[in-house]
Amino acid sequence: MTIILNGKELALKITDDIKISTAEYSDKPKLAVISAGENPASLIYIKNKQKKASELGFESFVINLPNNVSEDNLLENIFILNEDKNINAILVQLPLPEHINKQRVLDAIEPVKDVDGFTSFNFGRLALGYKPYAYPCTPKGILRLLTEYNINLEGKNVTVIGRSNIVGKPLSLMLQMKNATVTLAHSKTQNLKEHCLNSDIIISAAGVENLIRADFVRDNTVLVDVAINRTSSGLKGDVDFINVSPKCSYITPVPGGVGPMTIAMLMENTLELFKLQKSLFL
Ligand code: NAD
Repeated sequence: MTIILNGKELALKITDDIKISTAEYSDKPKLAVISAGENPASLIYIKNKQKKASELGFESFVINLPNNVSEDNLLENIFILNEDKNINAILVQLPLPEHINKQRVLDAIEPVKDVDGFTSFNFGRLALGYKPYAYPCTPKGILRLLTEYNINLEGKNVTVIGRSNIVGKPLSLMLQMKNATVTLAHSKTQNLKEHCLNSDIIISAAGVENLIRADFVRDNTVLVDVAINRTSSGLKGDVDFINVSPKCSYITPVPGGVGPMTIAMLMENTLELFKLQKSLFL
């Protein structure tokens, strides 16, 4: 029997709890989003984040900068938000325009306000096996989903497909911390199929429709599909869901799997930073 890893349902449970916790405070967690350019997918993501933040009783706002914004201007905006005691969480929406040095901009964020965990400080702590101020949202959401369904990671062979700084790389580190044996596959990996067939758990974040077909998957595999591919027939992941799912013990749908968990973790990180700053600055 295949069990669907229902991220939508779990995300709702988590955000309901966040709403209750937030209501206990007289002031509200405040999230600032910086966006540069008009990437259509980014605009949708930002709208969804703001909507969720407002549902939970957070304050949030977006600083929209033009595509030709200078790096100095972007940095200046971050410095102002760093100094503002009313701002608890800063998110720079990726991707940034080509001419911007992305990591330089991310590293300008005060680590204690780095809600995505993308600064070198927080990412470095994660790589060294220490707790960052915030864990990157998508990997954190994936681990939370696996935990909710009691899927044990210790000693398991896990193949993560995709080595980006926002998904695959931090996820591989977090899985190692849970004592999984991790293979981090990418576009230059030879024999992806063999790696997948040797895995108890496959987590795919490549952004390639139908990358994972039925012959890549052995019986009872746990499959997490992170990808969001916009196709003529709607949103699709990396997995050929119809043919692969019958072989899996657990599988995430797209949409309704990892996506809602990512937003829920962003809200959780915002609340955690808000509480942490209260304890630090009181
Ligand atoms: P990216 O483009 O930065 O990275 C893609 C990675 O996949 C690269 O490391 C690349 O080497 C690897 N890859 C590409 N083709 C491959 C192939 N044929 N075989 C093996 N590896 C291959 O992308 P990203 O930002 O990490 O996002 C990946 C996917 O996840 C996208 O579809 C994105 O929309 C989605 N995503 C979803 C969420 C969510 O909340 N559900 C969050 C972030 C990203």
